Amino acid sequence: MKTIVRANTLKHCLKQPNHHGKTIGFVPTMGYLHDGHLSLIRRCRTENDLCILSIFVNPTQFAPHEDFKRYPRNKKNDELLAKEVKVDIIFYPSIKEMYPTGYTTYIDVGTIGHVLCGKSRPHHFRGVTTIVLKLLNCIHPHKLYLGQKDAQQAIVIKKMLKDLNISTKVSIVPTVREKDGLAMSSRNVYLSKQQRSQASMIYQSLLYAKMKIRNGETNVSMVKSAMRRILNQNSFLKIDYLDCLNADTLMPIKKLQGKILIAIAVVIGKTRLIDNIIIRA
Ligand code: AMP
Repeated sequence: MKTIVRANTLKHCLKQPNHHGKTIGFVPTMGYLHDGHLSLIRRCRTENDLCILSIFVNPTQFAPHEDFKRYPRNKKNDELLAKEVKVDIIFYPSIKEMYPTGYTTYIDVGTIGHVLCGKSRPHHFRGVTTIVLKLLNCIHPHKLYLGQKDAQQAIVIKKMLKDLNISTKVSIVPTVREKDGLAMSSRNVYLSKQQRSQASMIYQSLLYAKMKIRNGETNVSMVKSAMRRILNQNSFLKIDYLDCLNADTLMPIKKLQGKILIAIAVVIGKTRLIDNIIIRA
């Protein structure tokens, strides 16, 4: 396994004759790897000749008041885990490498980036799509691996690839959860014991919505109110958003029919957590 820190070194490495004709799979992450990330990497490993992982805590997707500085980082452990799952190359650029002095170019994703997470994080998807496009331009992978956990991110990136005529295919990998259902996230380490136990209610409320829809409920407000009631029982937990939308377009729906995305963001203490499920009704 190679660790590369310069974009030009990575491009040069991928142009070498030993890489000609090989299929390239790419997993972008912010590191502090957990089993969610590893399931993307394993999938990438089995489906491609070359498996490339990037680790970069991208400052442009964080607002000034957010957790960029304290975001958990552990390069040594990430390298150990990456080696175990047989990553070929880790791309580990510095901020200066990705955003040198004088950097000014950003992607504008349009209205799809203004709903859900985009409401409380207005510049988030501008930062996410910009870094993903920059990484894609360094790697030119055949396949890009993203997690269902960040449903809106996956939809926004897929749309960017389509809109900008980029031929990289996207694979969405199911959310990996803790035993009690909490979606794995690097940010879970921020939670105290009490907060951690309340965090499991996020998935419980999603399962409740699923059960209601399976039993024939089609009224959006009814399901949303029931989920709010479950979540509001928890003193530490504040709902940022809770919505039922069209799972492909993120447009509002009048009835719980078709392919529905139920998405939640909550703040527990200072920690913002997101989760979602997709239901076909
Ligand atoms: P992050 O490091 O949080 O930016 O995540 C990097 C990639 O891993 C993104 O595509 C995420 O959607 C994905 N990911 C994060 N957590 C999980 C999880 N629990 N299950 C599946 N994929 C995940």
